[in-house]
Amino acid sequence: MILLFKIYAFIFGAMIGSFLNVLILRLPTNEKFFIDRSRCPKCGFQLKWFHNIPILSFIGLRGKCANCKTNISFQYPVIELLTATISLFLFGGEISLHGLTSYLFFFTVACCLLVHFVIDVRHQILPDVINVYLGIIFFIHVVFFYHWKHWVLGGLIGFLVPYLITYLFYKIKGVIGLGGGDIKLFGVLGIYLGPLGIIHNMLFSCILGSLLMMPLLLFKVIKRDQAIAFGPFIIIVAVIQIYFPSTFEMMLGALLF
Ligand SMILES: [Zn+2]
Repeated sequence: MILLFKIYAFIFGAMIGSFLNVLILRLPTNEKFFIDRSRCPKCGFQLKWFHNIPILSFIGLRGKCANCKTNISFQYPVIELLTATISLFLFGGEISLHGLTSYLFFFTVACCLLVHFVIDVRHQILPDVINVYLGIIFFIHVVFFYHWKHWVLGGLIGFLVPYLITYLFYKIKGVIGLGGGDIKLFGVLGIYLGPLGIIHNMLFSCILGSLLMMPLLLFKVIKRDQAIAFGPFIIIVAVIQIYFPSTFEMMLGALLF
């Protein structure tokens, strides 16, 4: 019985993943994504229902549009498979109100972070819609599970600290450090992570960012003044904090001692 529900969780995840692909494609260009979500981006060919089955259609079509044979981006099956796998792992098999709401909360958060991650890597944007949505989901959760000080202080610190640093940086050096989307994401994550958690996130995302950027700068893969998406670092650290809290505690311990 549990196995059957796990299969459902996987299929459900794959279907949501296929919707996330649409969001990833359309959000940065502000297209209306609810209409006309099933056309070949190259030739405009209207996909049939059987061209729209997550993961399987990509395999069936061998990665090519049924009409014009243009290669379909690998992003589609990868996001679908990833979302399906995340859904499978987050679904604990517990069929109860608590089990299902907890699954839906963590799965929705994961979807938002995944969309944010891919869009930021590709376009250096963290869309406001996703930040707002994530903020609402977090808010509903923390109101039930945390003292108000946790989320009020977390949200304020998450927003104000990076905002002030960016402002001072701009006043002194005349360059914009963090983008508005990063600052909003810190604020939104602060609601869930709380004051200490969001400070930890800032610390670790900066460390992670520098660790990855230094070799890239050194080997001149990127230029010194080139704008780099910072969102992915915030998201990687947040994922560890939200989904692997004990691992994060160990990382924190290793850093402090
Ligand atoms: Zn086509």
